[in-house]
Amino acid sequence: MDLPEFACFSPFIPAEWGAAHGVRLTRLARPPAAAQRAPREGRCTYAVSALELAQGFLAAGGAGAVFTTSCDQMRRSAELLAPAERVFLFNLPHTWETPLPHRLFRQELLRLSGFLCRAGGRAFAEEDLAAAMRRFDGARRELLARRETSRAATFARLLLAFHERADGSLPETAAQEARPARGPGVAVLGGPLLERDLWLLDLIEESGGRVVLNATDTGERTLPRFFERSRLVADPLGELADAYFGHIPDVFRRPNSELFRYLERELSARAAQGAVLVMPVWCDFWRAEAERLRGWLPCPLAAIDLADDANGRQRARTRIQALLETIS
Ligand code: SF4
Repeated sequence: MDLPEFACFSPFIPAEWGAAHGVRLTRLARPPAAAQRAPREGRCTYAVSALELAQGFLAAGGAGAVFTTSCDQMRRSAELLAPAERVFLFNLPHTWETPLPHRLFRQELLRLSGFLCRAGGRAFAEEDLAAAMRRFDGARRELLARRETSRAATFARLLLAFHERADGSLPETAAQEARPARGPGVAVLGGPLLERDLWLLDLIEESGGRVVLNATDTGERTLPRFFERSRLVADPLGELADAYFGHIPDVFRRPNSELFRYLERELSARAAQGAVLVMPVWCDFWRAEAERLRGWLPCPLAAIDLADDANGRQRARTRIQALLETIS
């Protein structure tokens, strides 16, 4: 029997939580080709795509859509979505340094539980949650192992497919070209990359670079930490909340010092010589960090507006080639 499906768009919504309720919290990342057009004034291209994906999903019979308050743009997309009773807005705390936001995150998971149950899910049992967490954890370990042998776009596509399946199963890996073995190491960071944006990763590799880290919002940076097995027995919900809310570094968090700590650690570990910052047009968060990152990163940075228009690729190509020339 097909499980009830809910569309979601945030790495802070644990797919394990859906599995424990007998539903799929599927993260959508493939807008139809017809949706590719010039940015709308004042609207983040990703938030608009999320709205359009959710509209199509609900119209096709999806059980519901889950948005978060990570930024005003996503909040606005949730407000514009109808019917409102099939939309859940998850209050995602921005602060994290005191115990209160962690408690709030856990309470929001329980509120989401009620929404899932009303829309066709079943009440969760701790054993089911722990079993789902073990399954997803194992799958994520295997997935990360594939990073070493995959081209950057292939690995990014695998991550998107894993999030879209949302059942803890791994997508098939098609036969693929080998990962580049030589060339300057480039870290890619910034906002989300949808399926249609993965040309950017190919462009870096075709221009002679090696993508050594995908720290975008849809890359490995936003995977939860691995679960502690002992805590899966004692308090699986607490462990789930901590692995996600307590550990995913993101630009909207206040302070967002963990994002910088993550980048410091990973850029050094992967020996990145340059960085590409991907900014969805009209994303104030990433735009605000661009200058700070330029002064802070230990390597040159190319900042790219991820515009979905005809000139976007040419501008990106020019910036990436200039970056690679600088660091080669
Ligand atoms: S890219 Fe920026 S503006 Fe767009 S949804 Fe993400 S945080 Fe919000």
